[in-house]
Amino acid sequence: MHVPLLLTDFLDRSVELYGEKPAIIDDERILTYRQLNGRVNQLSRGLRSLGVKKGDKVAYLAPNTTEMLEGFYGVFQVGAVMTALNTRLQPADYQFILTHSESKVLFVDEELYPLIKPVLRNIPSLEKVIIHGEAVDNREGYDEWRTQFSPDTFDRAELEETDIASLLYTSGTTGNPKGVLLSHRANYLHALSSMHHLRVSDSDTLLHVLPMFHVNGWGSPFYYTMNGATQVMLRKVDPKLILQKVKDNGVTVMHMAPTVLNMVIEEYESLPLELEQDLRVVIAGSAPPPAFVRKVEEDLKWEFIQVYGMTEISPLITTSIPRSMELDLPLEDQYLLKAKTGYSMVGSKVRVLDEMGDEVSHDGKTIGEIATRSNNVMEGYYKNETATNKTIRDGWLYTGDMAVVDHHGYIEIVDRKKDVIISGGENISSIEVEGTLYDHPAILEAAVVAVPDEKWGEVPHAVIVLREGYAEKEADLIDYCRKKLAHFKVPKSFSFVNQLPKTASGKIQKVVLRKKFWKGHDRMVR
Ligand code: ATP
Ligand code: MG
Repeated sequence: MHVPLLLTDFLDRSVELYGEKPAIIDDERILTYRQLNGRVNQLSRGLRSLGVKKGDKVAYLAPNTTEMLEGFYGVFQVGAVMTALNTRLQPADYQFILTHSESKVLFVDEELYPLIKPVLRNIPSLEKVIIHGEAVDNREGYDEWRTQFSPDTFDRAELEETDIASLLYTSGTTGNPKGVLLSHRANYLHALSSMHHLRVSDSDTLLHVLPMFHVNGWGSPFYYTMNGATQVMLRKVDPKLILQKVKDNGVTVMHMAPTVLNMVIEEYESLPLELEQDLRVVIAGSAPPPAFVRKVEEDLKWEFIQVYGMTEISPLITTSIPRSMELDLPLEDQYLLKAKTGYSMVGSKVRVLDEMGDEVSHDGKTIGEIATRSNNVMEGYYKNETATNKTIRDGWLYTGDMAVVDHHGYIEIVDRKKDVIISGGENISSIEVEGTLYDHPAILEAAVVAVPDEKWGEVPHAVIVLREGYAEKEADLIDYCRKKLAHFKVPKSFSFVNQLPKTASGKIQKVVLRKKFWKGHDRMVR
C-alpha cells in the first residue's frame, strides 16, 4: 500500500521514540517532544476553529522561536500552507506578499508587529492576526488563545503527498521575490536527503542561526525534528550570543552564512572563552575561499560542510565532499575541494549545462549553468507561469548559477549568471576576485560588481568594508590585486563603506550595489 509522504510523520516519529527528550530549548523553557506535540495539537484546533482548511495560506512573521517551529506542524495538520515571511522586509513588501499569497491568518512575533501593523488593513484576505506575545490592539495573544484548545491527538485533514505544504518567497537577491510552491513530498524527500548527507542524529543539538523561514535554514525544522535532535532557538544573530548558546547548550551543529561565521570566528578569537568541543560541524550555504575553510577546520577544529541550493529546490541539492573521501589528499587540496560546491545529494541529479542543454566537459574550465532534476523541485512559482516556464525547461530546473566541473565531477560555482562581469568579451567571476580580496588582512568584507565602461562594456568595481584599525586606500588594493590576478580581473575602482546591503540570511545584494552605477545605462539581461 502506498503511504503518502507527509511532513507530519516527522513529529509523530519523534514523539513515539523520544517523547521525554528535549525537543526545543529557548530563552524561557525546555520543551520535550511530547509537550511540543501537545502545543501543536492546540494550535491545529485553534486554526480549525478559525475555519482554516486544506490549501488555505497561514502566514508567519517571526524570528527563530518555539512558536515559529511549532507553527509548521500545527499548520500542516489542518492541511494548510505555511507561508513564512522574511523578517527583514519593508511594510510594502509585506503588503505585496500577504496580498499575493491571499493569506487568511497571520501569526506575528510581538517585536515585529509594529513593522507590519501599518499594512494589515490593506489585506482583504486576512481574517485573523494573532500576536506571539501579549494581546495588543484588540489582537489576541498567542498563548492565551492557544491554551483554550485541547492538546490531545488531533483529527488531521486528509492529504496527498503532492499537496502544497509551503509557499516561500525567494530572497530577492537578484530582483523581486517570487513565491515558491513546495509540496509535502518535495520537502519530505529533501529532509531525508539532508539528514543523510549532514549526518544528523538523535545526539545532535542544533542552534538555529539561519532563519528557518527561508532558503538555507528552510527544512532544518523537518530533518532535526525527524531525528529526535534538540533544537535551540536564537532570536537575534549576534556572535557573542551564538557562542554563549553553543557553550551553555552543548550545541553540536550550526548552519550559517559564511559572513556570519566570519563574525563568530572573530568574536571567538577575541574571547578568553574555551568552548567544549561538542560542536562537530558548521554548515554554510555559500562558496567560501579555501583559506577560510582552513581556518575553520585547522584553527577551530570544526568540520566545515558547504551546501548549495535555492528556495525552488527545498533548498539543498549539493554538498561538499565528506571527510572520509578526503583522507588520502594533502590538506591544502582538501580545503580546495571543500571550497567547491561539491556533488549531487541523493534524490537530485545535478548537471552543468551549456547553452544547447548539453553537459559541459569536466575540465574545470568550461562554464555552464547548473540545472537539476530533483525530487525536491517546486511545483512552480505561485501565480507566475511565465517565470515558472523560464526556470523549468525540458524537465530541468535552471538555477541561474554558473559553474565549472572538475575531473572528479565536483561542481564549483563561478558566479550567478547576473553577477558575472563581461569585460571586453572576457568573463570575470566576481566570486574569484572577492576570494583574492578576502585574503588581504585589511579586508573584512568585499563585493565585486560590474559597472559600465565605455571601452570594455563592463569592468569590475569593488565595494569594501575594512577591518577596524586599517586605512588601506584604493591604490594600495589595486597594487595588491595586480600581483594576484590577471590584469583584466583587477577592480578598476574601489569604494569603502561601513556595511554592505544584505538579505535576511546575510547574502550580499549586489543588485543594490550595482544600481547606482547603472542609472541611465542598459545592462544586458542574463
Ligand atoms: P532571488 O532568486 O529572489 O534573486 P536568491 O536567488 O538569493 O534570490 P535564494 O533561493 O534565497 O534566493 O538563494 C539561492 C541562491 O543562493 C542560489 O541560486 C545561489 O546563487 C546562492 N547559493 C546558495 N548556495 C550557495 C553556495 N554553496 N555557493 C554559492 N552560492 C550559493
Ligand atoms: Mg534565485
